[in-house]
Parts: sequence; C-alpha cells; structure tokens
Amino acid sequence: MPPQDFRRAGRHLVDWIANYLEDPRPYPVAARSEPGALRRALTGQTPLKGDSIDSILRDFEDSILPHITHWNHPRFHAWFSITSSGPGILGELLTAALDANAMLWKSCPAATELEQGTLAWVLEWLQLPAEWFGMIVDSASTAVLQAIVAARQRAEPQSRETGSSNRLVAYVSEHTHCSAERAAITAGIGQSHVRHIPVDPGFRMRPDALERAIRSDVARQMKPFFAVATVGTTSTTAVDPVTEIATICRANGLWLHVDGAYGGTFGLLPECRHLLAGAEMADSFVVNAHKMMLVPLDCSLLYTRHPEALRTAFALAADYLATDAVNVVDYADYGLALGRRFRALKLWFVMRYFGRDGLAAILREKLKMAAWLGEQIAYDHRFELLAPATMGLVCFRAREGDAATMDLMRRVNSSGSFVSHTRLSGRLAIRIAIGNIRTNQSDVEQLWAAIAGS
Ligand code: PLP
Repeated sequence: MPPQDFRRAGRHLVDWIANYLEDPRPYPVAARSEPGALRRALTGQTPLKGDSIDSILRDFEDSILPHITHWNHPRFHAWFSITSSGPGILGELLTAALDANAMLWKSCPAATELEQGTLAWVLEWLQLPAEWFGMIVDSASTAVLQAIVAARQRAEPQSRETGSSNRLVAYVSEHTHCSAERAAITAGIGQSHVRHIPVDPGFRMRPDALERAIRSDVARQMKPFFAVATVGTTSTTAVDPVTEIATICRANGLWLHVDGAYGGTFGLLPECRHLLAGAEMADSFVVNAHKMMLVPLDCSLLYTRHPEALRTAFALAADYLATDAVNVVDYADYGLALGRRFRALKLWFVMRYFGRDGLAAILREKLKMAAWLGEQIAYDHRFELLAPATMGLVCFRAREGDAATMDLMRRVNSSGSFVSHTRLSGRLAIRIAIGNIRTNQSDVEQLWAAIAGS
C-alpha cells in the first residue's frame, strides 16, 4: 500500500471513527442480523485479485456494519460494559503499526518494560502488593488457566513431566465465572474434580461450605490444590468473603486465585476499596483492563506472588529463543503464548490520558447512574431488585415471574437499549450493566421509561 494511499485512507478512517464515537446512537445497538446472513454473502466471494481500499471501506459500511452489535453504544447494557476510549484506540493503532512481539525482552525491550511499568502502576492504583509479578494476557480465561497450571505445578512438581495424579481438586462457587471450570478441564484436572461451593443469599461463596468440602476431599485421599474467590461475580457482582477464603486456603495449602476481572477496577475508588479486602492474600489475581478501565479488548492483567511457579510450569528452552540479555523478564517463559501483542501500549495511553483521578470520576458517574436506576426499580412494586447495584450492575426481575421477566426484556431490547439476563436461585433475572463512557443519565432515563412502560 503506497504511503500516500495509507495516509488518505487513514485520515478518512480516523474521521469515520471520530464521527461514529461522537454519537453511535443512530445505529441499532444490537445487530438485527439473521443467523448466517453475512456468512452467505461472503460465500463465493474469495478475493483472487486485490481491491482498492476505497472499495473495502465502502463494503465495510455496506456489508459488515449492519451485522455489528455496538458495544460502544451508550445504550449497550448487556453482559458487562466495556469502552474503547479514544486514547485506547490510538494506542491500538500504534501497536498494529509497530507489530512488535512482546515474547522476549530482546524481541522488544519497550514492550516488556512498559508492561512491567504499567502493571506496577495498576498495583499502586488498586493498593495491592507492589512486589507482585504482573503480565498481560488476552483474557481472564487465559489468566485463570495459567494460574491453575502454576498451582498444579506447585501441588505436584512432577506434573510437568508426567501429568497430574488425578487426585487434584479445585473449588469454585456456584457463581464463579465458567472460565475457571474450563481452565480445570483444559489443565487436565477433570470436570468432576471441580467442586461448586454453595453461596449465601447474597450469592457469595460460603466459607464454611468450602472448609467442609476440603475436609471431605482430604478424607477421601484427594488433594485440594486450587480455589477461586471472585470480586464482582458475573451474574450480580457479588463479592466473595476473600479474607476468610484466603485464610482457609492458606491453612490447607491451596492456591487462591482472586477473580477481579470485572470488579477489580473499582478498587481504585477509596470509597470502594473495601471490595478488594483480602485480595492482597491472593496467590494470583486478575483484573480486566478491557472491562471498566477504558482499554479496548483485549487486555487482562494477571498478577501473582509466585512468578517462579508460572515459570517452572511454562518455560521451555529452545535454541531459537535464547538471548544474551541478563536480569530481564522474558514474558514468553511465564505463560501459554509465545507471540504476544504489545498490549501495554494502549494501557499506557489510557492510564496517562485519564490518570487515576480521571478514571475514578468516570467510574463514580456510572455508579451513580446505576444506583439511580436501582432505586427506581426498587420503589416500583412490579419489580424485585435482586442484588445491590454496587458495581454499576442492576439485577432485577418482574414479580409476576419468568414469563413476565422475559417479556419485559424483549420489550426493553426493542426500545433501543440492549440488556442481558441471568438465572438467580432458579429464577430469570434481567442484568443491566452501566459502564460505557458514553452512557449518560438521559440514556438511563430512557431505559427506565422502557422498563416502567411509560
Ligand atoms: N471473570 C468474571 C467475573 C467475568 O465476568 C468474566 C467475563 O465477563 C470472566 C472472568 C472472563 O473474562 P474473559 O472474557 O476476559 O475471559
């Protein structure tokens, strides 16, 4: 691509993005696609000869865009909110331009050292132990997989050579994100060796039940080795009693992974820091910068106090990877991926641009909107609020039952907002995540009008 063409198309695209993000409201928040529609349109269109960038951009607007669900839309409230902020997008652009592989220090010193530096800043923001080792991975799912492999290594040092003993047991709660169970499956622990500990009425793991389950497994000659406590569960943003769980884990030699994928970011607000109480006792901890930290997908921050366990579990010597650098971190030794994107750059852009105080102000604004919506729902006798809206998530049901809740969700989703659902104690619940940087109070008021049927 000749530089002049790149310049022209790039300017056009940056303008397009700026217009799009200035107000994505004209787009339908959820794609109105029929399954297979885009797939069919691509069939038989294999590009044999190259095309002009103008034609590609035109086709993007005409053929791809109609099938996009707009996560950056201010009225996107499904699953968890994310935000592709301006500085984050610019950081991504540079990452693609440099295309540096952050596998070894020598393969790009800036990538490794910016990763170390920004991850240390996040620890400061969240007031977590400065000595923790941090690395960026694509997702919290990869983070928990790496954590469980390191824990397996610690529990059974021979497992790297021979595989594990088939006696290892992992503990999650009924509300732990499914990525933890998937990690146990992938690491060969076996799905039947994952215990789902019951939760209390606030959807928090019950430490007494955890302790009993561990004792029962020990009595059966099993080896409890890994547990997950969550700060901000997916269904309701419940916070497990991390300190109590950590104390039990330490007493029984379990590796504790604290999943702050969603909730971790709120720890930077002094008034919310108590939500992270006990997280400093974790053996590993994850927070997704691509959730509430305004960094575009993907950017998950994995921390551990045992980097050597990760290294012992994952490092393999290969001649083509050996370098003469000393006293450096070669991140490829600490995880699954060899080739690693330079994700720290967008994190650095976002952290520098907003600063901790700027991000805190945005989080507070979103928390206020969610609290307002939670109050409207709580005061309406037709609805039942199912969890306190402490982390920007409002969870409720129609008192009439599941069918009415489903009808309501459909009505809301045809009103220009997009919400999702979950099941709590067997009952259908609507989840409304309020966290996108572009969502304002009037978006939330329109959403409430659709819920209230006014
Ligand atoms: N943990 C929690 C609490 C989550 O809510 C999610 C996803 O929403 C995950 C883990 C998995 O995150 P990822 O999509 O980065 O794998």
